[in-house]
Amino acid sequence: MDHFLYRDGQLMAEDVSIAEIAAQVGTPFYVYSSATLLRHFKLFDDALDGIDHLVCFAMKSLSNQAVLKLLGDAGAGMDVVSGGEYLRAKAAGVSGDKIVFSGIGKTRDEMRIALEGGIRQFNVESEPEMEALSEVAVSLGKAAPITVRVNPDVDAKTHAKISTGKKEDKFGIPISRARDVYAMAADLPGLKVIGIDVHIGSQLTELEPFRLAYRKVAELTEQLRSDGHEISRLDLGGGLGIPYARDNNAPPLPIEYGAMIKEEVGHLGCEIEIEPGRLISGNSGILVTKVIYVKSGEGRKFLIVDGAMNDLIRPAMYEAHHDIIPVIEPQAGGEQTQYDIVGPICESGDTFAKGRNMPTLNADELVAFRSAGAYGAVMASEYNSRPLIPEVLVHGDQFAVIRRRPTFEEMINRDSIPEWL
Ligand SMILES: *Cc1c(COP(=O)(O)O)cnc(C)c1O
Repeated sequence: MDHFLYRDGQLMAEDVSIAEIAAQVGTPFYVYSSATLLRHFKLFDDALDGIDHLVCFAMKSLSNQAVLKLLGDAGAGMDVVSGGEYLRAKAAGVSGDKIVFSGIGKTRDEMRIALEGGIRQFNVESEPEMEALSEVAVSLGKAAPITVRVNPDVDAKTHAKISTGKKEDKFGIPISRARDVYAMAADLPGLKVIGIDVHIGSQLTELEPFRLAYRKVAELTEQLRSDGHEISRLDLGGGLGIPYARDNNAPPLPIEYGAMIKEEVGHLGCEIEIEPGRLISGNSGILVTKVIYVKSGEGRKFLIVDGAMNDLIRPAMYEAHHDIIPVIEPQAGGEQTQYDIVGPICESGDTFAKGRNMPTLNADELVAFRSAGAYGAVMASEYNSRPLIPEVLVHGDQFAVIRRRPTFEEMINRDSIPEWL
């Protein structure tokens, strides 16, 4: 459920009309609903009610500071994957003891930033990273709390580019080697082993792969404890899939996911962390774009819109699906046309949908891409010298631009031409 619904023939974000935002900020732009973000966070928080837990928002999915502050104030921790994300979370007011640092390529500089600013834990993914972290922590006179990310070798049954928990994926340490790696961690100075981490992929639409992975983590917890390690925290990753309106087999609900977690690991007495990204942010945002031209091709019609793959790369990168709806509510039983919906960029990949049945549209009409809150704005680029598009946050009947559109000049003036040219 989200808060992007038609009212009086107009698409609304909560109590604000999308057409009104478009008139003020220009197209294309992203708009996020505060109520939807908070609701999705709370679904996870409630699903783990009864056990000690922290829901850490995977902020790589949507990292605007206004969104981080909204979720942080509601009690969310943050899962960060870079020094930049760490500093952004801090700038948004999230305290270090609620920030988890994930990622396979943390640099020493990033480790230093997090250790100096305070960190809940590092999720370590390799022996060399562990050695580097040990050195950095010792040099700062600190103890770095760590979990080791294990790769449980389960098939997440998702798109290859977003699967992370099979043995051929680059993430984590093979679970079969975990006991040796924990023994090594215990011997290194400056590290404090506190738990285990696992994350098997994204957009999972079944509970079973999670269950298999968590069962392996539970077994490993017992083994590591018998080896003398303190395992008091389990980070179970993110990855629960989001429902799309066209789905008939919708992914499991957070409440079902939470119940499964309690079944598989609840008896261990560990504090539980989860790192959902897209399920919190995905359906909390839409991309609003305007039809520039309707073009007739060989046996097909193209809807050329002013948003492009540089603004929203998911369809080009992962063949991701986005429901695309007109901002003015279509009449029931009105005329339908089949369109290829494309952006203006000179790449065939700049295609959002092929052969999509839509209410018939004309130039200058607005359309909204649903489920665009996650991995949308954060993956945008200025390809084709298209300035990054604005982000807008709605709260009830108010809205605010939370990142404005740079001017062409600002974008162009970031280059510098050396004096010898
Ligand atoms: C990407 C990622 C997440 C979030 O994944 P979603 O599919 O957005 O829920 C969580 N944890 C780690 C380590 C990740 O890399």
